[in-house]
Amino acid sequence: MKFLVDFMLGRLCKWLRLLGYDVSYFVSDKKSDLIYQSLKEARIILTRDHRLSKKKAIKLVIINSDLLEEQLEQVFSELNIKVDPDEIFTRCLVCNEILQKVEKEKVKDKIPTYVFQTQKEFSYCSNCQKVYWKGTHWDLANQLLKKLKSDKKN
Ligand SMILES: [Zn+2]
Repeated sequence: MKFLVDFMLGRLCKWLRLLGYDVSYFVSDKKSDLIYQSLKEARIILTRDHRLSKKKAIKLVIINSDLLEEQLEQVFSELNIKVDPDEIFTRCLVCNEILQKVEKEKVKDKIPTYVFQTQKEFSYCSNCQKVYWKGTHWDLANQLLKKLKSDKKN
């Protein structure tokens, strides 16, 4: 599932990438371009703009909440999608590129010493060279997912 997220939803964009989704970030406010890109790349539009017509886009979700958790919940429930834990941290949060696994010796000079000593698995983005590991963000992602799951039970 691919998304096109408008400029008002920057955090949602990053978190969907973190969960492994292919997300383009749309920074212009030209609505015709937004629709055009979504059709050309077969992306579902996520927007806060209530004036956008649902008829023109392939699929469009108008996000109601300002809160990240509620935004994610709305996307998952409206589109009926479930997060695949294996897909978490497979994409660069900055440029949406698929991450490559890398041996830690190769990224030694790019990461803090304590991370090198304590972490085992590393991946990196071949586009922006950013290195990722199962640290703070990983914990945050799991906390968020647990929260989303437990919210549904209530
Ligand atoms: Zn990158």
